[in-house]
Amino acid sequence: MTGEQHRIVVLGAGYAGLAAVRKLRRARGARVTVVDARAEFTERVRLHQRVAGQELRQWELARALDRHGAEFVRARAIELDPAARSVRLDTGGTLEYDTLVYALGSIAPNHVPGVAEYARSVATPEDAWWTTGVEGPVAVVGAGATGIELAAELAESYPGTPVILLGADEPAAWLGGKAVAHVRGVLDRLGVEVRTGAKVVEVTENGPRLADGSVVPAATTVWTTGFAVPDLAARAGLDVDAAGRIRTDGYLRSTSHPEILAVGDSAVIAGPGGRELRMACATAIPTGAHAAAVIVAGLRGREPKPLRFRYQGQCLSLGRRDGLVHGLRADDRPGRWMLRGRAAAVVKELVVRSTIPMAGLR
Ligand SMILES: Cc1cc2nc3c(=O)[nH]c(=O)nc-3n(C[C@H](O)[C@H](O)[C@H](O)COP(=O)(O)OP(=O)(O)OC[C@H]3O[C@@H](n4cnc5c(N)ncnc54)[C@H](O)[C@@H]3O)c2cc1C
Repeated sequence: MTGEQHRIVVLGAGYAGLAAVRKLRRARGARVTVVDARAEFTERVRLHQRVAGQELRQWELARALDRHGAEFVRARAIELDPAARSVRLDTGGTLEYDTLVYALGSIAPNHVPGVAEYARSVATPEDAWWTTGVEGPVAVVGAGATGIELAAELAESYPGTPVILLGADEPAAWLGGKAVAHVRGVLDRLGVEVRTGAKVVEVTENGPRLADGSVVPAATTVWTTGFAVPDLAARAGLDVDAAGRIRTDGYLRSTSHPEILAVGDSAVIAGPGGRELRMACATAIPTGAHAAAVIVAGLRGREPKPLRFRYQGQCLSLGRRDGLVHGLRADDRPGRWMLRGRAAAVVKELVVRSTIPMAGLR
């Protein structure tokens, strides 16, 4: 690679793409172009707050990227041609690249019947703009981090509106008994009805249908069971996993097309102990930044360093006044320390705020 007018295209201006752009300032002589379908950055990790009626700040991407010397193209990427090293846009244009950073993130899944027709989501800003006047009862399907945060936020913001949290396991079970006890305690206090062992097989206009055939009556069903990814990479014939995420080597390069680096939710990235990194802002930012470091090293004719990543902790908000911050081992298994209550809510808020400068937005 040479630094002379090397064309770097970053697909996606979410946490991962923006963290990459911030570090690509060091790629002197390279031209950096960022493509995103949205004109503004919205904090995705706060979308449950938006659904609970809180206003969210937005950042104008063109201005933010200009500060980093990157050009912003507002368009949807509709086709990737790795042989021609180009990306086709819905605006009619085509962008050619020497190096591509693929950071298209994730979206709501809809693999269960009725989800697309009858369920709402908080996965993307567009999904989360449905809030004005939440109609209850609300059934939140999925007792993972997003489901827990959403159920707590709704119950706190709309007291009196029945909120039912449906999951296979106890909320926060992956963090162990003490975490479960705290989360359960807060959800009980907020009046959230928790139903475990619930397998939802369909969403109907009357609410989610369980495997035993019963329907949980709900005016609003919100689907929060994980994320799907855009299919651009799979359609382009890149080496992807069953979900369509790009498989990467230790340097975040596509295993089939090393001139493409994949980061954030759209990538399969090995972490400590060979365990895949989970879809999280906490992994999107460092992987985005590291992809930029790999590119810069290449442009300077240096050996890039492999990604070194370790988990530190997981933060859950439980409404605005309570939370849980749990220590994690390097490989994402629960560690020993835990912070609860208002102090945890404050830490979570500070962590969320800290992502803004890390994404180069301030
Ligand atoms: C409610 C909620 C709460 C969360 N809380 C936490 C949390 O507390 N901690 C945590 O670590 N994680 C949390 N997450 C997960 C976190 O938001 C994601 O893992 C993170 O946003 C992934 O970052 P990303 O940059 O890979 O993708 P994204 O943030 O999804 O960004 C992808 C970007 O690509 C753009 N894009 C997509 N397709 C196209 C296309 N075809 N053409 C052009 N542009 C396109 C999108 O517009 C978007 O701007 C939460 C998620 C949700 C929904």
